[in-house]
This record gives sequence, C-alpha cells and structure tokens, in this order.
Amino acid sequence: MDNEFDFGIIGSGPAGYTAALSAASIGKKVVLFEKDLIGGVCLNRGCIPTKTMLHSAEIYEAVNNSLDFGICVDNCQVDFSKIIARKRAVVEKLRNGLERSFKNSGIMTINSEARIIDKNTIEADGKVYKCEQIIAAVGSSPRVITGMEYDHKFVLSSDDVLDMEKLPESMIVIGSGAIGVEFSRIFKAFNVQVTIIEIAENLLPLADVEVSKRVERIFKAQGIEFYTKTSVEKIEKQESFVKVHVSNGKIIEADCILLAVGRVPNEIEKIDGVTYIGDVAGSIQLAHFASKQALQKIVEIPFDETLVPSVVYGNPEIAWIGKREQDLELGTYQKAMIPISALAKSQCDNALDGMMKILVQENKIVGAHIVSKEASSLIQQLVIAMQAGINVEQLKSVCFAHPTYSEGILECLMRLK
Ligand SMILES: Cc1cc2nc3c(=O)[nH]c(=O)nc-3n(C[C@H](O)[C@H](O)[C@H](O)COP(=O)(O)OP(=O)(O)OC[C@H]3O[C@@H](n4cnc5c(N)ncnc54)[C@H](O)[C@@H]3O)c2cc1C
Repeated sequence: MDNEFDFGIIGSGPAGYTAALSAASIGKKVVLFEKDLIGGVCLNRGCIPTKTMLHSAEIYEAVNNSLDFGICVDNCQVDFSKIIARKRAVVEKLRNGLERSFKNSGIMTINSEARIIDKNTIEADGKVYKCEQIIAAVGSSPRVITGMEYDHKFVLSSDDVLDMEKLPESMIVIGSGAIGVEFSRIFKAFNVQVTIIEIAENLLPLADVEVSKRVERIFKAQGIEFYTKTSVEKIEKQESFVKVHVSNGKIIEADCILLAVGRVPNEIEKIDGVTYIGDVAGSIQLAHFASKQALQKIVEIPFDETLVPSVVYGNPEIAWIGKREQDLELGTYQKAMIPISALAKSQCDNALDGMMKILVQENKIVGAHIVSKEASSLIQQLVIAMQAGINVEQLKSVCFAHPTYSEGILECLMRLK
C-alpha cells in the first residue's frame, strides 16, 4: 500500500535525518515529514551557520594579527554581506546533499506539518500515513521570557542574528551558555562592542568552574565585557537603540540584544508508543546527542548518555566531558593540569591561552576540561579513553605525536600525583 510505512519520522534535524537514513539503510520503508527546511535547526539555524560565520571571524582575527607571524597585510576589511552569502551557500550545499541522500535512499519526504493521530497514524496535508513505528524528532525553539519578547528588531533570537544583513556597532548578549558565548566571540571578532549579562555566578555556568574563570580572563583580555550574578530588570527601547537596566544598577546601551537563554522543546502530540528523540525529548540539546539517540533507536548502536562531549567554539575552543571539579568531593579525586602554553605546538601557533585539566578517580579518568585551540578534537580522545575504560597507566603508554596539542594529554597525566 502507498500509505503504509515501517517508519514515520517527523522532523528532519539530526535526530530525524539520522533515523530516516539509518532505517532506509537496513531496508525499511520510510516517510519523513518536515514543515520547514530540510536539516532542521542544526543545519539551517544552528551548528552549521554559526560555525561558518565563526570561521570568517577567525580568519579576520588571524589576518589582523598576521604581523606577529611575519606576514604583512594591508587594508583588511570585513564584507559582512559576503560572509552571510557564504554562510547561506554552505548551508544550501549541505541541504542539497541531504535531500539527495533522502532521494537515493528511497525515503519519501513530505514537506508539510505533521500531526500524530495515534501510535501508528500520522496526518499531514489532509492525508493519512500508516506507520509501524513513529518517531517524533521535532526539535526545540528559542526560549521566550516575559517582558523580553523577541521583536526581531531590538530583541533578537539566534535565528534573527543569523539573518542580520549588517553588523551592529554594539550588542548585549543575555545568557552565557554555548550559544551566547559563540555569538559574543563572533561579533567581538568583527569589532562589535559586546556586553554579556549572566545571572549565574560565572560565565558558561554548565562548565567546570575553573574553565569558566579561565574563559572570563580570556574575555577580559579580548575586550568582551560581561556582568555575572546580574539579571535584567527592564528593557527600554529608543528610536534606534535599546537601554537595558540591570540588577547592579547599571544601564547598558546597545544597538540590539541577543536573548540566548536556552531553548524549549517544540509542541507535538504526546502519545504512548511513539518515540521522542533529540531536542524535543528535553534532555541534552546537542546535535550529536540527537543523532546518537536515533542510531540507538533504529540500528541499536548503544551509547553512554553520561559521556556526551560539550564543545563551545571560538578562539580558543572550550570542551569538556564527564565530571566537573565542583561535582566531586574534595579528597576523593586526583587532578592534573597544564597551561596550554606548556606545549611546543601552542608556541609555534602563538595560541597560548588555555589549559587542560584531567580528573581521575581510582586510576580512571572521570572528567576532562580543555580550553585550547583544537579542543573540539582533543576532547574526543578522552571520550574514547573513558568510554573504553582505558585507565591512566594504559593511556600513558600511548605514543602521542610531537609537536601536537594531543601530547598535552600525556603531559597532563605525567603530572598526576
Ligand atoms: C545557534 C545554535 C548553535 C548551535 N550549535 C550547536 C553545535 O555547535 N553543536 C551541537 O551539537 N548543537 C548545536 N546546537 C543545537 C542543535 O542545533 C540541536 O541540538 C539539534 O538541531 C537538535 O536536533 P533535532 O533533530 O532534535 O531537532 P531540530 O534540528 O530542531 O529539527 C527539528 C525539525 O522538526 C521540524 N518540525 C517540528 N514540528 C514539526 C511538525 N509537526 N511536522 C513536521 N516537521 C516539524 C522543524 O521544522 C525542524 O526542522 C545549536 C543550536 C543553535 C540554535
């Protein structure tokens, strides 16, 4: 029958597209519903556009600092419209690739909003689809705060910021999670005056406290202003700028505000027997978590939900896995730490800001926290070690190439007392 499927999947972000492609790869008949653009938030309004813009910001910074490396460049300028055009082109290319993969895998794609009628029935555009199993992977949206509603002119969401046609002169970022921090770094690199307001004790409240403090030092040096333990009391919109009254009595002015205070799961019918994965499930809101959940569901590849790496991109990268020092009881763990500047490679690159910290209990690594160039790749080595149960002595016996940032792992472990 034309309307009967093994899998009905709603949402085409990392959770939905991984589920659809892996189900098709084992010969299942799949129908995929997407009411917006194929690829979900990750591809269209999240991971990919931000990292594409960030790369432009990094190039601009590198060229501006090129004299330090003996390279002379005159008249380095930002053409923001080209940056945005490139971001759109990268996203479009990846989206086309994904659409081609769906086609080649025989996945039926329905471009409209879907509704779950019961555990085996989906309705979209007036048509009914019967599915052996339904997977809802409908994602999340920026959190709205009463009194700070998005007006898309002064109070912006991450979606709005990604669609800006022109750089503002100044921006207030409310919230210093990964999204707030990444945008702060992008805009600061383009010489926008950035002020972060964070209600928690430190920036990046989910990170190890030592990492947060290191990031605060780096931000100070980079000229990113921030107020921690500070909340927003009132937003006053003027003709062409906005005033933010904060709890420490200050009034901060800027061209616009990025409200980056988390994301909430999207609405969809909750029905027993339907599987909910990715951001909508409301636990870890990361693309790699979403796609691992999909693989676990469809092809039964297990994964350890306590070992999901976090990465905050920018210069330097920030990454962590496992326990933070504040999670552990004093006297129950060992800690080894190096400044990244101790590594020859960081001196070659003049990428000296940062640290690596490894936390150990009973000869096993229980947490790792890195602020460094290449932290996003470095952390993966520790995730593998932790997941495979490789202990400290076994990891010490691994030969790390020189000069690399990876050898920092060995340096660090050698300092364990
Ligand atoms: C600015 C930003 C940067 C980010 N950077 C990173 C990063 O660097 N690394 C990382 O791991 N994560 C990052 N994330 C988070 C990441 O984007 C999400 O965790 C990921 O997209 C979640 O995937 P998902 O498949 O659950 O949902 P989504 O990607 O949100 O996809 C859900 C899809 O479902 C569709 N949908 C919803 N309801 C229906 C319906 N009823 N019918 C049909 N379709 C429907 C939506 O249109 C959407 O396309 C970032 C997020 C943002 C906002």
